[in-house]
Amino acid sequence: MLNLKEKDRPIIRKLLAAGCCARCVLRFCCVGTCSSYRQSHEDLHKELLTFIREENCQQSHDASGQGETEDPPNKRMKMEDNISADDSITSGEPQTDSDVCPICLGVLQEFCDPTFVKQVSDAIKKEQYLFESLLLTVSLPAQLSVREHSCWLHVKQEVRQKSMCLGKDDVIQVKDAFKWAIQGKICQELGAAVLANSQFEVSVGFTHPETEEDCHFLATTCPDCFKPTKNKASVFTRMAVVKALEKISDENFTKHYPCPPKKPSSKCTALDTTCLHTSIFIAGRYNKFSRELPQTPWVIDGERRMDGSVEELIAAPLLSSFRADGFNFSSSGREDVDVRTLGTGRPFAVELLNPHRVKFNRTEIKQMQETINQSSDKIRVRDLQIVTREATSRMKEGEEEKTKTYSALIWTQKTISNTDLEFLGNTKNLKIAQKTPLRVLHRRPLAVRQRVIHSMSATYMDTHHFTLKLCTQAGTYIKEFVHGDFGRTKPNLCDLMKTDADILELDVESVDIDWPPQIPD
Ligand code: ZN
Repeated sequence: MLNLKEKDRPIIRKLLAAGCCARCVLRFCCVGTCSSYRQSHEDLHKELLTFIREENCQQSHDASGQGETEDPPNKRMKMEDNISADDSITSGEPQTDSDVCPICLGVLQEFCDPTFVKQVSDAIKKEQYLFESLLLTVSLPAQLSVREHSCWLHVKQEVRQKSMCLGKDDVIQVKDAFKWAIQGKICQELGAAVLANSQFEVSVGFTHPETEEDCHFLATTCPDCFKPTKNKASVFTRMAVVKALEKISDENFTKHYPCPPKKPSSKCTALDTTCLHTSIFIAGRYNKFSRELPQTPWVIDGERRMDGSVEELIAAPLLSSFRADGFNFSSSGREDVDVRTLGTGRPFAVELLNPHRVKFNRTEIKQMQETINQSSDKIRVRDLQIVTREATSRMKEGEEEKTKTYSALIWTQKTISNTDLEFLGNTKNLKIAQKTPLRVLHRRPLAVRQRVIHSMSATYMDTHHFTLKLCTQAGTYIKEFVHGDFGRTKPNLCDLMKTDADILELDVESVDIDWPPQIPD
């Protein structure tokens, strides 16, 4: 049952006469019941015709009785205007060569049929995603908006007479009608639920080259709306067209474009169905035990410098488990190639792009961690867990205020005395100024950063070597603090000890961020 009202009759008559499809007629009658759109388009069409026939019968009945005076004269006139069109509709004869709806260009006709449902479902199945719900998105040719507007102007009077329906916005959108018609059927085919906030998005799209020029007149009536942009193939984007249609006067529109729109000879072409699952984030902490392993692939002038990287070692098993298309790696700070990260490790997060599987239990995640750890002795991962996108920001939050502890092997030119080491041990909250180090100047802007060395402790090794433990503000350049970077870091260890000094080895002992949460073994 379509639940059509007496007031819908003139709209239905007008739209059917213009060759519109049954679902477009329902849209313009503001029928908001999703299930109505699920009926086959032939059934809907039949039902609309029956509804109009009822009126015709009623009319002849009225004419033979005394009802004649009840019809206002203007309504009567309209009926007479349309009488020839009505004849062809009610007799069910095709009015033109094509049966393609001039508004939706066929989107709400054949593309709502089981064949198309099957086609989309098969395309989704082929991608082998594991999902429980999905969300359908539809992209329509921009000219559909022009045709919709033209049709709105065509029936505006009739629609406005309905108390429930006041403006163009009350007309059900093609997109919604299309989703109502097929979304449930696709989900049924796949055994999934329709969910408005589903992380799994299936996109279908349509093009209709035949009517592309429909939009072109808008560029002259509203040039402001169509500014060329870099990444768009055409200036006639849906957004721009909608904006232009909001600006154009009814009079100006009808001067340039027929109302109702002309029937096309062909229906839309469906674009390939595409699937996209929103990213999933997995976090943990990593140790790096090698002095020959960069955190990210090290490429200079297009040539790869070292084998492997922390991020690749971690991401490889994740990519295959989640069957993701790619990843983005981020961490709380980073260490140089020759620096180890010991202790409880450095927090990191991996964004897995378009994962095909996202549900894993604790044991399975633990297994992935094991796989990473067994793949190389250069790194080790702990506390591996799935987190939300929002939670990953905790890793970067207040990064500057956090402390990090380091252990460095130092060489000095002069013979080391106990007094030197005690002096270092007694130095607290030393403020230093660091100009961007020479070694990173090619990728970072020149700036002076203030940093704090909270505390130090030194352990004698031999006359020219000692181990220095440092607790510093995050972001301190430790190597530069030791050798001074040609005076670019002030004060530096050479200044403090009044000798030449260099750093031979450096380890990160701890990164003091309590994220991600620890996972008990
Ligand atoms: Zn239609």
